Amino acid sequence: MAEKRKYRLQRKRLVEELHDRGIDDENVLRAIAAVPRHEFVEPALRNRAYRDEALPIGKRQTISQPFTVAYQSMLLEVQPGDRVLEVGTGSGYQAAVLCELGARVFTIERHRPLLDRAVDILEKLDYRVVSRVGDGTLGWQSFAPYDGIVVTAAAADVPQPLLEQLRLPEDDTPGGRLVVPVGTQDGQVMMRITRTGPESFEREGFHRFRFVPLVGAEGGLEHPEAG
Ligand code: SAM
Repeated sequence: MAEKRKYRLQRKRLVEELHDRGIDDENVLRAIAAVPRHEFVEPALRNRAYRDEALPIGKRQTISQPFTVAYQSMLLEVQPGDRVLEVGTGSGYQAAVLCELGARVFTIERHRPLLDRAVDILEKLDYRVVSRVGDGTLGWQSFAPYDGIVVTAAAADVPQPLLEQLRLPEDDTPGGRLVVPVGTQDGQVMMRITRTGPESFEREGFHRFRFVPLVGAEGGLEHPEAG
């Protein structure tokens, strides 16, 4: 009980820190305040769960820094009921934040042990997601189109299949948005690409970040055989 309270207080302080760093979307801040990040990190690292830092989760991968998760979630502009595809499940933390925002979450991870662990934690916490092991650079055609797609690893180029799986705009509704860090191993620009027509997209660039590499057939920083 005391432990729960301790984590709740640490989470509150983290939310204040994120707000001070420019995260001003109230829904995103509420979602970060609701998700118990300590459940997604390894037990030995739980005392660092509410610091604004990435932490190792095995397989040379990381749970993203809370600022990064909040920033990508903010750019996605999730509306309740949106269908959102996540490429790179990792620990499952970002998927939980998307669930708290009311999204229907589809998530793909290339490492089976990471996905199995993430799914166990998400189920225990009652977050419902549809998940699979695979190469997320190809998207997930069976559930397309998506209102939002978020790539949580560094791409060399924007994967073409992800653009094709964004929802087209309709009367009052803008097209789907893809949020993806694009660049080199040394740093990436966070891109938001909004579908404006069958073959047209609006591209915006935001802050620089540093992610682990996207490893895949389309637009990855590394090809699958290398990873
Ligand atoms: N969203 C995660 C979280 O909240 O913990 C952070 C994930 S970590 C920064 C990036 C993840 O992308 C890693 O788990 C990595 O294995 C995965 N990944 C890299 N390339 C991928 C691909 N082509 N398809 C699916 N997952 C991929």
